Amino acid sequence: MTEPTLPLRGAANPSTSRAGTSPGSFSNPADIGGPLTFSSPDTPGMPEPSAKTAWDFLPDGWRREGKFATAPAGFEAVTQLEFARLGVVTPEMRRVAEREPHLTPEQVRDEVAAGRLVIPANKVHLKYALDPMGIGRGTRTKINANMGASPISSSTDEEVEKLQWAVRWGADTVMDLSTGGDLDACRMAIVRAARVPIGTVPIYSMIIGRKIEDLDEELILDELRRQAEQGVDYFTIHAGLIRTHLPLVKDRLIGIVSRGGSLLAKWMLQHGKDNPMYTAFDRICDIVREFDITFSLGDGLRPGGLADASDRAQLGELQTLAELTEHAWRRGCQVMIEGPGHVPFDQIEYNMKLQRTLCHGAPFYVLGPLVTDVFPGYDHITSCIGATAAAYHGAAMLCYVTPKEHLGLPKKDDVKQGCIAYKIAAHAADVALGIPGSRDWDDELTRARAALNWERHFDLAFDSDTARALHDEDLDVDTDFCAMCGHDWCAVRISKEIVEFASGKAEGFIRDRVVKTPALSPEQQEILAQRGVLAPEELHRLASKTKQAVGVEIGAKASCHSDYVASDDARKLQHEKLVTLRVP
Ligand code: SF4
Repeated sequence: MTEPTLPLRGAANPSTSRAGTSPGSFSNPADIGGPLTFSSPDTPGMPEPSAKTAWDFLPDGWRREGKFATAPAGFEAVTQLEFARLGVVTPEMRRVAEREPHLTPEQVRDEVAAGRLVIPANKVHLKYALDPMGIGRGTRTKINANMGASPISSSTDEEVEKLQWAVRWGADTVMDLSTGGDLDACRMAIVRAARVPIGTVPIYSMIIGRKIEDLDEELILDELRRQAEQGVDYFTIHAGLIRTHLPLVKDRLIGIVSRGGSLLAKWMLQHGKDNPMYTAFDRICDIVREFDITFSLGDGLRPGGLADASDRAQLGELQTLAELTEHAWRRGCQVMIEGPGHVPFDQIEYNMKLQRTLCHGAPFYVLGPLVTDVFPGYDHITSCIGATAAAYHGAAMLCYVTPKEHLGLPKKDDVKQGCIAYKIAAHAADVALGIPGSRDWDDELTRARAALNWERHFDLAFDSDTARALHDEDLDVDTDFCAMCGHDWCAVRISKEIVEFASGKAEGFIRDRVVKTPALSPEQQEILAQRGVLAPEELHRLASKTKQAVGVEIGAKASCHSDYVASDDARKLQHEKLVTLRVP
């Protein structure tokens, strides 16, 4: 037999699995601690990574000595960045390393010191239930879910419920974007209930009950302090949109689509002055540092349609965000940068790598991006396609988009659909980037699928109940094939038989006799009859009854069911039996 001669690109980065599998990731070698940490190979023409890091922007009076730095006498570290610069591993860094088993606490510290990793953990929120997490290129890709009451819909209780629901479906952080109802009460309730970091866009609260033109620096600082004291972990601050950018917007198809950006543009035009978030940036840094809030420097000029992507307004603002990043680092603050928006697929890599260059590796937190504008109602899909590319090429956190994007306030099922779409994007990118261990879950599910072990298949599925309901629509659990191809055409079943694979059948199994399991239970029938209409809680309540009906909880199974077969056993059997069969 001729050996394949195609280049084994994955050989440079041989495994995404802790145990080692082949082929590996096609991305660059991991390079943790360098500018190419978990990065995609550059398409020709992409901007080079910056040669600088947060180490190049130490505060006045600090000196780099060897691996770490020394601060002026009497200085007391407050932020994770300051502790990292001094060489200290904090409890929060340890916790991040526990949650990212491919990183040591020291690597987490070093990435924080370089400005490539942030730990959004307000000191007030740490006293409640916050479980610290990290956002950066060295960590797994994170997802954020937005929620918040609007003036015409939702309530505090509903938003707290949505918070728990979003976390149930994998949100790593949640932004409270409330613009209606009792904003303070809603924010407090969300922070107190949240184990995940909470972000806000503070300008929303600043204009409740007043016109945008009445905003001034003192009002801005008062509101920031109030939210800091409540325990908010990261602030979106639209300080990068300045007066010189405004003329660049006039030729756009859809102008400014960021709420914060449009309000501040209006303020600048009415006052004939520069953005107060920009002019007060030093004083904002002081509050942010005091509580160790993380900056999420907002993209007030993000494109709102494909036609406006990568234009001078967007990239001009990104340049200002880069200057503010350097400034915030000099004041000891943690920083991430927000990014677009609506971007054609071919421009995504450039956008990610330009940010990497200009902002010296500060984590990029992107909304989508949507790769087409013509599928309202399905923007969780149009955007998670862009989000996958963004995460592969440089984003560290993905802000979800739900099916309600551009159309209305997301309800619970929209939150679930948005979270799942973005978990898919983040996980797909992590596997592609070769983050160690990220593919273990996929490999486990593939083993269960190969063994036709439906229970294990459902258990490993991200949304077990939906996988079970869709399978059971056509056939009950525990047949050794499914309804997609049927018994005679089930390639997995046939493959197992021809190679005398470890079938792992239950005792009493009789080959050639298909065991008919009971008909669908009333609960299963209800799930299927109302697919797409059933409330998410109802789906899960019915699915748990279904599991009881088929005996999953007590480990019962039909005799045609295949058990999970450990890969070593399978390899041994294949070697012994398959090789024997082939040798005359
Ligand atoms: S019937 Fe087809 S889809 Fe179903 S398990 Fe077999 S090969 Fe896979």
